[in-house]
Amino acid sequence: MKAIVIGAGMGGLCAAIGLKRIGFSVEVYEKVREIRPVGAALSLWSNGVKCLNFLGLEKEVAALGGAMDKMAYHDGLTGDEMTGFSLDPLYRDVGQRAYPVARAELQSMLMNTLDKSEVHLGTELISIEQDEESVTARFVDGSSATGDLLIGADGAHSVVRPYVLGKSVKRRYAGYVNWNGLIEIDDSLAPSNQWTTFVAEGKRVSLMPVAGNRFYFFFDVPLPAGMPNDRATYKSELKEHFSGWAEPVQALIERLDPARTNRVEIFDIDPFKQWSRGRVALLGDSAHNTAPDIGQGGCSAMEDAVALSIALQTNTYGIEDALRRYQNRRAGRAGELVLRARKRCAETHAEDPDATHKWYESLRQEDGSRIMRGILSNIEGNPLD
Ligand code: FAD
Repeated sequence: MKAIVIGAGMGGLCAAIGLKRIGFSVEVYEKVREIRPVGAALSLWSNGVKCLNFLGLEKEVAALGGAMDKMAYHDGLTGDEMTGFSLDPLYRDVGQRAYPVARAELQSMLMNTLDKSEVHLGTELISIEQDEESVTARFVDGSSATGDLLIGADGAHSVVRPYVLGKSVKRRYAGYVNWNGLIEIDDSLAPSNQWTTFVAEGKRVSLMPVAGNRFYFFFDVPLPAGMPNDRATYKSELKEHFSGWAEPVQALIERLDPARTNRVEIFDIDPFKQWSRGRVALLGDSAHNTAPDIGQGGCSAMEDAVALSIALQTNTYGIEDALRRYQNRRAGRAGELVLRARKRCAETHAEDPDATHKWYESLRQEDGSRIMRGILSNIEGNPLD
């Protein structure tokens, strides 16, 4: 059996690794010649890590992960700690630590797990044809590839999605802009083993440890979409948005390197249930594009990859049946996480300022148990529970 995977992001690569493990031959086709992830890093929650463990990458992901032992919220203006607690009870409940990782390192780790000959860079899918025997992908350079199934892991702007759905869907602006990057760990910014978040005015600033003595940092600011994106003004814009904020936030803005900082407008897509059409199925952001507010988009893509190989391991009634079972197993859970992230996004970014104010107040009463219950409920329900 041969699987064609479109897209060599974390979803497509995990899918290819999973399918290889159950005996498929895989060919991954990627539009760009060099993959430059849109963000500097990401948090792999325990469900995502479990999926990588399942794919045989336990040691590799642990080596990339930062020591995120604790979590704390601070008042962005005064710098006072609102709540701080160990994440150990959460990790013990689910049986696995979370690992914040640098994206470029995750990407090369996944890429190196496949043979070079299995990944075709600079090959853009433009159309798909299928019949009862096979599916064929046609690429912009005039070449084509034929296999038993095709996985559309081609991200938020997927070409495979409209083929599967028979229509285009619109992405929805989540209402905020995110700046992110990596910076050397320094205790004057935040403790080195803690995920620290400063909140006020519907904005947030976060620091999370990744391997190599670095913090992944990000700033969220509610703003209209379509404003100029000019590296030369990142620092001055951030200084303006965070004027009057606590000293560690000012120091972070001062120290960050705009040349290596990303600015991303955040979008999501209303969940939909149809992920497969015959021998073709969606996976990752092409199937469930989410706001990053609960850090689950990439983890969901990894869950898809695991669920896909589990579904295809039983192939008694053919590929179409296996892909339908994969879709039925995944669409509900992934859609639920998109909606949870949307709700979290509204509360964090002051869509209703009173609700956000109440959330700030609740953080001052928090001993960690309510927050960890929330994170636990995102982790539970993964294909490896
Ligand atoms: P992508 O990574 O987008 O990969 C798709 C690939 O397909 C790309 O390489 C693209 O070039 C290729 N492609 C597209 N079209 C074609 C074509 N026609 N032919 C061939 N190739 C094509 N998730 C988490 O789990 N935790 C987090 O903390 C987290 N933080 C985030 C922070 C931000 C600011 C953002 C924006 C997202 C965050 N996410 C997080 C979500 C996560 O980044 C995505 O869910 C994840 O990257 C999706 O992977 P993917 O492989 O599905 O898509």
